[in-house]
Amino acid sequence: MIPLSVPWLAGNEARYLAECVEEGNVSAAGRFVERFEREFAEVTGTAHAVACASGTAALHVALRLAGAGPGRLVAVPTFTFIASANAATYCAADLLLVDSEPRTWNMDTARLHDEVVRRARTGDRLPDVVEVVHVLGHPADMEPLLALKDRFEIPIVEDAAEALGASWSGGPLAGRSVGSVGRFGCFSFNGNKIITSGAGGMIVTGEEHLAREARYLINQAKQGDQYVHETVGYNYRLPNLAAALGCAQLEQLADAVAARRALAARYRELLAGLPLTGPPSEEWARPSHWLYSVLVEDAGIEADELVTKLNSHGVGARRLWPPVHLQKPYARSERLGGAVAEDVFRRGLSLPSSSQLSVDEQRRVAAALRQSWSTPVRGSAQ
Ligand SMILES: *Cc1c(COP(=O)(O)O)cnc(C)c1O
Repeated sequence: MIPLSVPWLAGNEARYLAECVEEGNVSAAGRFVERFEREFAEVTGTAHAVACASGTAALHVALRLAGAGPGRLVAVPTFTFIASANAATYCAADLLLVDSEPRTWNMDTARLHDEVVRRARTGDRLPDVVEVVHVLGHPADMEPLLALKDRFEIPIVEDAAEALGASWSGGPLAGRSVGSVGRFGCFSFNGNKIITSGAGGMIVTGEEHLAREARYLINQAKQGDQYVHETVGYNYRLPNLAAALGCAQLEQLADAVAARRALAARYRELLAGLPLTGPPSEEWARPSHWLYSVLVEDAGIEADELVTKLNSHGVGARRLWPPVHLQKPYARSERLGGAVAEDVFRRGLSLPSSSQLSVDEQRRVAAALRQSWSTPVRGSAQ
């Protein structure tokens, strides 16, 4: 099976891990944690970075510090991986699930903006925090959110878990990396992401006191060494071993992003003429192309059938996420639309996108796709 997205371990991974063992420094704190944080802040153009146990942990802490809590409302896109919504739920906040816009599949930030303005006029409940997700590596349109921040002081948390390496290339944010615009940016180093630390995450922020508070919360809210705790913290630190892997991976980030962009360009050529659209790529954005995802145009075959066929040909394609509002724990959450997200889910699938995917493997994926349309699907005895 050609996998969807697997780690690319082509650098100093083994060397740095061995150094941790030789130095007897495998657990919490250590020079690789500090180095990973420092270099990550540099790469994303932020002042402070705090390493965490996972991307979900990073989001949980960032949302709490941004003001998510009981009785508070967090605006979250309905088209995202479930962790974005769960992190707000861990804070005991309520969710406002916002539909996608069709151009980038990201949160329809213009629609959210207009809704907030309308609610302010009628005295309805406003979101206390906006959690925006740069879905599948494409930056979201931030301008309406920045307007909300200026007018209503609603802080922004960026879930950039899928978008490390992506940036804006036009408009007022040109040159800025994802994660560097909101009060907090959160990243993931899970095994399927563009770089991995085995498991892990990072919170970035421009404000030193927020970085300090994040560091305090991820370390059981420990003050000094007298076991005195004034709030409930978490065991969310990243071990030195994981940070060592992360440092080795970060050295290869530029190559990984270049590889994924090259892969996207090649898929575009190989798949020309097939009834597929996407992935999004707006002229004001430099997406990372974490996953190469497409929508099936209505042409006699559904995305789920296509994925089944591709899997049977050894191609590890996968469907996109069912929108959050269709997931059982969120069926009663407040929402703003949802039809675009449902359509992207219904027609969407991701193709193998590992950084090290060879041209031959990409040709095999394209051939399996072409074959899917040339062999009967409907009514065939599969
Ligand atoms: C992967 C992912 C996360 C969670 O990251 P983990 O490190 O797996 O906890 C959060 N949000 C999005 C959009 C993701 O894709």
